[in-house]
Amino acid sequence: IWKELEDDYRKILTPPSFNAWIEQATPISLENNILTIEVPSALHKEYWEKNLASKIVETGFKLTGGEITPVFIIQNEQPKTEEVVVKKTTEVSDIVIQNSKKALLNPKYAFDTFVIGKGNQMAHAAALVVAEDPGATYNPLFFYGGVGLGKTHLMHAIGHQMLANQPDAKIKYVTSESFANDFINSIQNRTSEAFRQEYRSVDLLLVDDIQFFADKEGTQEEFFHTFNTLYNDGRQIVLTSDRLPNEIPKLQERLVSRFAWGLSVDITPPDLETRIAILRKKADSENLEIPDDTLSYIAGQIDSNIRELEGALVRVQAYSAMSGSEITTSLAADALKSLKPASRKKELSILLIQEEVCKYYHIKLKDLKGKKRVKTIVVPRQIAMFLSRELTDNSLPKIGAEFGGKDHTTVIHAHEKIQQLLETDITIQKEITDIKQQLNQ
Ligand code: ADP
Ligand code: MG
Repeated sequence: IWKELEDDYRKILTPPSFNAWIEQATPISLENNILTIEVPSALHKEYWEKNLASKIVETGFKLTGGEITPVFIIQNEQPKTEEVVVKKTTEVSDIVIQNSKKALLNPKYAFDTFVIGKGNQMAHAAALVVAEDPGATYNPLFFYGGVGLGKTHLMHAIGHQMLANQPDAKIKYVTSESFANDFINSIQNRTSEAFRQEYRSVDLLLVDDIQFFADKEGTQEEFFHTFNTLYNDGRQIVLTSDRLPNEIPKLQERLVSRFAWGLSVDITPPDLETRIAILRKKADSENLEIPDDTLSYIAGQIDSNIRELEGALVRVQAYSAMSGSEITTSLAADALKSLKPASRKKELSILLIQEEVCKYYHIKLKDLKGKKRVKTIVVPRQIAMFLSRELTDNSLPKIGAEFGGKDHTTVIHAHEKIQQLLETDITIQKEITDIKQQLNQ
């Protein structure tokens, strides 16, 4: 059954996720329809239970016709006497806390506060792999994606996890700007040697937002050498940027090519369920009582940036505290009303969406609204209908009418079609994300 399961997972997971989750798990026994599986950490256990266990039930049923219940145990988790455990963990965590302060890691940005969803699953899995085995797998690990999607968070999480495993590891987190400033200061103060010593002796170097290396020739030169030294010593390097290295203007070719040695993973905006899960987690951690429909409402209002999503929650919380009333959907609506104009600068119209789609696919508005059945037009037309449905308040008949007088069932069909494609087709995912981004500007 395990072999079979592995094959099934291999089909549905990306290789890093497969390595991160499936490879690390060991089947122990199958007795009385209970499949006991050993996993390396509590984090793995949680991930398995949340995301992977349903497949076991499914495949188990397929193979045995019976109901298989998976149970997860954590490796090396022996029941020690309470006292010893407590003492040990406080000692270790003291060191970890001190070292994570030294490394400038934000204690809130850990793996266990990170909600996994479609847009960040792969990045999360890669981060875990690297945190568990720094320098050995993906080096450098490169995260890219829009603002407020969790790049910095994941990067810090790697640092925390590495410190938890190796409390005296030397870790350094910097933004590319601080790296540049440190470098320039070291020249002015004639402390280049100390600067090099500092950066080239770490076990894990985290450099955030390297798009700001653009235009900084000298800094790039210095970073090139830092990179080489660390890389050759088998030290882990993790980088983030808002775009791929080769899209960063004036980034030296030799850096671009080095960054491609490891793994680049993008983080895309969270879907609605992930946004709700993030809000739920945040609300729970702050002991806020918020009904589910209110969380869904908030998650529905802000759809591209997790920092703004958190901001919205804070706003609702403050609003409730000030007015002395419980958090409800209508209170949230009031609290967020004044936010709307800022976060959605202009009301999107169907026409605006049509124009943007036409521009993106280089087709004519006349064709988009017309009746041609060639694929190069049909897909953009369906995407434009889909976006009109998703992003505007227009009714289905109204949308149909704006597309050259089509029936509302055509709009429903287009919407379903694109929704399906979005689940499987990464090209479409990317294209729609791009168009949405254009629309947001
Ligand atoms: P970026 O570096 O990509 O701009 P950040 O890592 O700073 O984004 O994330 C912005 C905020 O959103 C942070 O407060 C972070 O904790 C939170 N956040 C991002 N992704 C997640 C996630 N998957 N789960 C929980 N919180 C998240
Ligand atoms: Mg960041």
